[in-house]
Amino acid sequence: MVHKFKVKTSGRSEMADITREVQGLVREHGLESGVCHLFVPHTTCGLAINENADPDVKSDILDALDLAVPESSAYRHSEGNSPAHIKSVLVGPSLTVFVEEGGLQLGTWQGIYLCEYDGPRNREVWLKLIKG
Ligand code: ZN
Repeated sequence: MVHKFKVKTSGRSEMADITREVQGLVREHGLESGVCHLFVPHTTCGLAINENADPDVKSDILDALDLAVPESSAYRHSEGNSPAHIKSVLVGPSLTVFVEEGGLQLGTWQGIYLCEYDGPRNREVWLKLIKG
């Protein structure tokens, strides 16, 4: 069974913290020990685990991706959002987190982020919880 939740992003580019929602679903479905696979069914956003303490880290990551993938270049895609597609490929659409004693096994400074590159949009995150 795939569990889903929605994320409404508010910026053109944004790192939305979804740690609480993911932990909530893990608890709700009673997974004590196993793995939590996360996936976004979208082509212009991604998932990442990174620092949840200093918000400047999120800004620096978004700025660095903007430098790496310029807004204007000789892109062919007629929709005009090739930078968002490219960032999505670089960041990736999926993650796996271990679960023990009902809790996501993240480092002290880690949070789970939905990385928006073509917002604002309504996004979905899909979760597969596997006992083991
Ligand atoms: Zn497109």
